Amino acid sequence: MARLEIHQFPTRSDNYGVLIHDPATEATAAIDAPDAEELLAALQKRGWTLTDILVTHHHGDHTAGIEAVKRKTGCTVIGPAREAGLIPGLDVEVKEGDTVEVGGVKGRVIETPGHTRGHVSYFFPDDGLVFVGDTLFSVGCGKLLEGDAKTMWSSLSKLAALPPDTRVYCGHEYTDANCRFALTVEPENEALQARAAEAADNTAKGSPSLPTTIGRELATNPFLRPQSPAIQKRLGMEGRALEEIFGEIRKRKDRF
Ligand code: ZN
Ligand code: FE
Repeated sequence: MARLEIHQFPTRSDNYGVLIHDPATEATAAIDAPDAEELLAALQKRGWTLTDILVTHHHGDHTAGIEAVKRKTGCTVIGPAREAGLIPGLDVEVKEGDTVEVGGVKGRVIETPGHTRGHVSYFFPDDGLVFVGDTLFSVGCGKLLEGDAKTMWSSLSKLAALPPDTRVYCGHEYTDANCRFALTVEPENEALQARAAEAADNTAKGSPSLPTTIGRELATNPFLRPQSPAIQKRLGMEGRALEEIFGEIRKRKDRF
């Protein structure tokens, strides 16, 4: 049974901060800590007391606020064991299959390397929520800064296998720009056309395009669709390995 309350807020230039709150125990976790002041302001706005930070990866735009927030709140900092030396204030190291708890609500750690070597995502099955940091974006995916296409494709495949109605919270608001690229890869995709129109409208209104869902990403996100005959044809890669096709899409996006 779902019981977590979620507060998503824009932070830094194009990051999102997310707070998840268990009303039964009053526990509250932040997904990453991009900016200490903005995170503390969001907590105050909701009247929530921070108990934990769940860190997805070591990049500064996800960790810069950790130390100040920890000093102020005494929260526990949980993050990937494989990036232990790179994350300030890390208290608890987690790896694939480990359980994290927000109050009484259990989440599962899914290792999703590729953007960074140790990137993790946090999946809360009872609430149908996944926090994916910079691995998966709506209609996009993270850059391969510390991993190859094979590694990232394997990570994205794990996320793609979650229930389609799982709500996906991402580290950045990139949807509108991602749609412009995606339409060059699969212009005939009607679900993508609709997503692009909606994202452009979100941008015009200054409203968030997130969260998304796994089902919606499977229908629109070219990085989850290397099996699409239309994409394979457009890239001249019919019948090639899915990770190779994924890698080619990623390369094209880097040049776009
Ligand atoms: Zn990052
Ligand atoms: Fe980031």
